[in-house]
Amino acid sequence: MNIKFVRIKKLKTLLIFMLCLGLIMPGQLAFANKYTEYESVELRESGSNVFKKYEPVNLMISGIDVFSDAPGITVNGRTIVPVSAILVELGVKYKWNGTTKEISFSYGGKDVVMQINNAYATINGKKTLLPDSVAPRIMTYKSITGDYVDRTYVPLKFISDVLGLSASWINDTRTVAINKKAQTLTGTYVDVYKPYPEIRFKVTGEVDVTSFVVDGADVGGQDKTIIDFQNTKLTPPSGATVKNGVWTYNIVDDIFGIDKIEIAQTNDNPYNTRVTIYQNERRGNDIFYDAAKKEMVVQLINTVSEVSVDNIYSTDTVVIGTRETPYYNVDVSGKQLTVDVINSYLRINDGAYQVLPVDQGKIETIAYQQLDTSKDDMYGPDMEVTRVTIQLNEKMTYDDFYVEESGDKLLVYITNQPINNFNYVKQSSEKGMMSIDLFSKTDYTSTFDAQTRKISLDIPKDKTDLGTFEQAINDHVVDQFVISETASNYHIEITLAENTTYTKSSSSSAIVLNFTNTVIQNSDNKKTLIVIDAGHGGKDPGAVGSKSQEKELTLRASKLLQSELERLGFRVYMTRSTDEYVGLYDRPAIANDLGATLFVSIHINAFTNSSASGVEVLYGNESMSSDKGLAQNIQTQLIKSLGAVDRGIGYLPRLVVLKETTMPSVLCELGFITNAAEQDKLISEDYLKKAASAMATGIVNFLK
Ligand SMILES: [Zn+2]
Repeated sequence: MNIKFVRIKKLKTLLIFMLCLGLIMPGQLAFANKYTEYESVELRESGSNVFKKYEPVNLMISGIDVFSDAPGITVNGRTIVPVSAILVELGVKYKWNGTTKEISFSYGGKDVVMQINNAYATINGKKTLLPDSVAPRIMTYKSITGDYVDRTYVPLKFISDVLGLSASWINDTRTVAINKKAQTLTGTYVDVYKPYPEIRFKVTGEVDVTSFVVDGADVGGQDKTIIDFQNTKLTPPSGATVKNGVWTYNIVDDIFGIDKIEIAQTNDNPYNTRVTIYQNERRGNDIFYDAAKKEMVVQLINTVSEVSVDNIYSTDTVVIGTRETPYYNVDVSGKQLTVDVINSYLRINDGAYQVLPVDQGKIETIAYQQLDTSKDDMYGPDMEVTRVTIQLNEKMTYDDFYVEESGDKLLVYITNQPINNFNYVKQSSEKGMMSIDLFSKTDYTSTFDAQTRKISLDIPKDKTDLGTFEQAINDHVVDQFVISETASNYHIEITLAENTTYTKSSSSSAIVLNFTNTVIQNSDNKKTLIVIDAGHGGKDPGAVGSKSQEKELTLRASKLLQSELERLGFRVYMTRSTDEYVGLYDRPAIANDLGATLFVSIHINAFTNSSASGVEVLYGNESMSSDKGLAQNIQTQLIKSLGAVDRGIGYLPRLVVLKETTMPSVLCELGFITNAAEQDKLISEDYLKKAASAMATGIVNFLK
């Protein structure tokens, strides 16, 4: 394959057009539930026809929340869990024999056969009494949608005694944490001589790790990658710089965009060692275990986590989401466009080849894969390359598309209409800049109509080359751009947002307009950072209604709340802004790390009785009167604005996001997806906008 190296015009700064109508990536299928938001769940013992209420428990395996089709519960102070959910999460295949009522599986060198209502199991052919002489039993869970789910339950102790794993009970959040056996982290160093630089951690054995990123630079702080070494004790080596329990490892000269690494023991039941990598440049990573050296390795390399199709500047655009500013090759051959993201790992579908049907404009399909560079003479075998192939329905040349680096995204515009000469950049919450590149200096006319808030520019057609397009922006600085043409001119119409002023400057090579929203610029609210947490996402749909899923509604409501708060001058950080899963413990950790002022989690309710409806706001810290105050302020406004049933505010201390946050935090349940009439309301943009506006008013009133 002949790949030409093409570096098409690079934008100087970050673009913000991310109007996502992207494809939904096929993900892991899971029977998600939201037990954590319930006070109780209903189950029935086999042989009984009476459903009883039990307290649900959260399940976490290797630091990752488990979404099982039946919940873990406590019975008479003993925690019992659905064994199939644990086995599935551990990747263990099991067999169920309905006649003999036996479950059999192999794990950790043990062949296990156990039978319902029999306290003896067969382990490696030997009859063995199960922990505390408790037999596995079948229980029936009555789900929120009224389905009955039969599952085999075993005591938690089974997990440690039979599977040889470590099981801890976290009482605060009523969570069972299941991990590999505990290990110790004893040292760290950086290896720069590898194809990709590596941060290596000396450990006594393999550990499970989870990681998340905090894009702090977006809200005036610093970018970080945070890695949790699950069930890992920290013993810093002698000579390490340790202060207040935090071991700091400085990186000389900011090498690879990394400033320093902090390592701390953040929990001791189970042990958690948290590694925080401070970054001056956004870096991706891959984490693996080097068994020969007994080291956990954090390899610094870009990652591709999204490939989707969007419509940007009214142009069909393939969006390749990466972690770092991407380095890439582009090739066009007939109806096929190939984009290689060099030095990157594909984080979708485990890197395996996958084709997605698109059928939008000229794009027929998009496909992606981690390239086998050992079989490709274009790249060396040590290089990691993600290949995205765009199949078109007509032949193209290099003039028919163009590629733009936009922060950590690569945008491939499929167009016959070059739009190279028009740029709009949102520089900060209150500032934006538009520039139009010129072939040579020109006289142009501009007018501003204060009534309609429209700026009109007329530029002679021989001085630049613009397409015609219409693009809504609505970023509180600019509302809209419209470009049309007459016989001799391009006519550009810019609608300014409320409170935006502008200045003009131009040179022989460009016309530049700078916009400033003066109300946001002068707002005291800028001091306040609000973290919005759109509930669920990705593998976890949350509650599922007849027409919608909780995760979609929470994201829409969260984005509307974000917009409303930004309009009021607040700094806002979203724990997620796409359909991705963020760990239950990572959400509060992000807010804590950012030192946020408030944390607002957004959810949609569900109940077995479809007549249940209304709004409630939950808080988790009774001693912190501010939590209750924030909840009450938001609840009052939501009821006033939505006219929904007032379910009041509720104290739910075991909710992870409320328990773990160190600032006033609330969880808003905006209505019931299981109530047909309320679901219809929740789907409508108007209702969600009202809810967002009410929540913002509640926040403002609380902060007064
Ligand atoms: Zn929820």
